[in-house]
Amino acid sequence: MQSNIRNFCIIAHIDHGKSTLCDRMMEFTQTLSKRELKEQTLDQMDLEQERGITIKLQPVRMDFEYKNTKWMLNLIDTPGHVDFHYEVSRSLAAVEGAILLVDATQGIQAQTLANLYLAMEQELTIIPVINKIDLPNANVLETQNAIQELIGGKKEDILKVSAKTGEGVLGVLKTVVNKVPAPLGDEAKNAQALIFDSFYDSYKGVVAYVRMVEGTFKDRDEVFMKGAAREAEILELGVFRPALIKQPELKAGQIGYIATGLKDVGECRVGDTIVENSKKAVTQPLAGYKKIKPIVFASFYPRDGEKYNQLRDALEKLSLNDASFEFYPESSKALGRGFRGGFLGLLHLEIMQERLKREFDMDLVFTVPSVEFKIKLRNTRGFDPKDLDQDNLLTINSPQDLPEPSKIESILEPFVRLEVITTSPFMGALMELLSKKRSIYKSTSYLDQNRLILTYELPLQEIITNLHDEIKSASKGYASINYEFLNFRENDLVKLDILVAEELKEEFSRIIPKENAPRIARNILKKLKDSLPKQSFMVKLQAAINGKIIA
Ligand code: GDP
Ligand code: MG
Repeated sequence: MQSNIRNFCIIAHIDHGKSTLCDRMMEFTQTLSKRELKEQTLDQMDLEQERGITIKLQPVRMDFEYKNTKWMLNLIDTPGHVDFHYEVSRSLAAVEGAILLVDATQGIQAQTLANLYLAMEQELTIIPVINKIDLPNANVLETQNAIQELIGGKKEDILKVSAKTGEGVLGVLKTVVNKVPAPLGDEAKNAQALIFDSFYDSYKGVVAYVRMVEGTFKDRDEVFMKGAAREAEILELGVFRPALIKQPELKAGQIGYIATGLKDVGECRVGDTIVENSKKAVTQPLAGYKKIKPIVFASFYPRDGEKYNQLRDALEKLSLNDASFEFYPESSKALGRGFRGGFLGLLHLEIMQERLKREFDMDLVFTVPSVEFKIKLRNTRGFDPKDLDQDNLLTINSPQDLPEPSKIESILEPFVRLEVITTSPFMGALMELLSKKRSIYKSTSYLDQNRLILTYELPLQEIITNLHDEIKSASKGYASINYEFLNFRENDLVKLDILVAEELKEEFSRIIPKENAPRIARNILKKLKDSLPKQSFMVKLQAAINGKIIA
């Protein structure tokens, strides 16, 4: 056992200061010099820096001297936005402890809770830390009470820091050493490494981010991917500082990278276990990760049809670096050959769109995002049994795939449980907003005198249209949300078709609630009118349900 190793991650709601705290820790441990540090250094993608958000998990190994011992600290910075929670859950599985960071000016928010529960499920040691105590509007006492209410423990054990000025940050590093347990694992056993992330490098092939669970790997070792059943030779291994720094070996308990040289991204996947090739028969795979299910779907087509193969290649590489992204080929009469992709939310979709453009120079046309629907059929005759689920329901994630109306008994749509955390003054406005979203009110519970959690059940469609922005404006920014999938429920839904100059435009079709159809149809047509190039003659824009024009 390596008793001087501590593996931990930082979890928090978006903007509570995770990446800034990482900066200070790297500074105090001299992992990077002040000159090498910029703001939110671990947000290494340009896109992350520009938007000021973390999209990818990012490990960094730090050396820390304390109590006459050299400690090896492995920290993983994580994203805070709900669309990237798969990054968080994979990070949590690679560590023994989590710093729960709460912004003293914002208090506990929806992702604070969601991420805390994820960490508790993994039975991690939680270190509560209040951040931004340098700000004049910091509510340190109130935040401290709320945290204690939530996780118990002693008030004195809740640390108070400013990630900006560095106040208290040394105390956090010491607490990590004192409280987070050393990783279990024996460096002499048969090696097992869990892949928790990866990326593609044109020289090194697939580079896997690993948590060494048992044993030792050395440079040039022959290895075997347990799940993919593929052999490889280690081209290089090492640690994150946060750049990749070569090492002679990685031992049980450590976090690092292994470059496999593999060119096919399918042969080294997140969740797989790397073992020694000579021991492959006697070494078991680790538990891995639950496959995550995308909830939002959209199709995309290269503007230049010649670039189809290039696009497929880009998608494979990108899906390696984003384990939650799924795609499969599709073709359309109007747009040619393209792909349908599954995403964890609208921000995830937007980020992928942006990454395809920047990292792979892909000029793409995207269709309107849609959720998944289940169709109860009048009669399953004529349908391939493998397209039906165990309840004989047909699953579709594109309105174009809806069977003709005469075959449909009813349509089911995904429902989610929504939690809104806010303060009392905004409760009324938020409840009024949510009452217009086909929602079912469930409960109100209090975090402290002023802060409360409203719980609703509502169709996922209502969330992915514009709810984030509407909630922001109804609460002047003092509300945050989290949601999780519940089940599929029958609702009165219809397919809305859009016609331009009396011609059906399949790619604009969508499945919407019948009760709101006229309002939604008018909105879509208005938007369409503004986005189409101006013509000197009249062009008819129409919305129809079952061939009947409604707007
Ligand atoms: P993350 O989304 O949790 O990674 O948060 P960031 O580290 O990106 O920080 C969000 C914003 O809060 C940035 O503008 C930081 O400069 C700011 N910030 C972070 N920590 C502190 C702090 O202790 N004090 C002050 N005043 N600002 C902070
Ligand atoms: Mg961040």
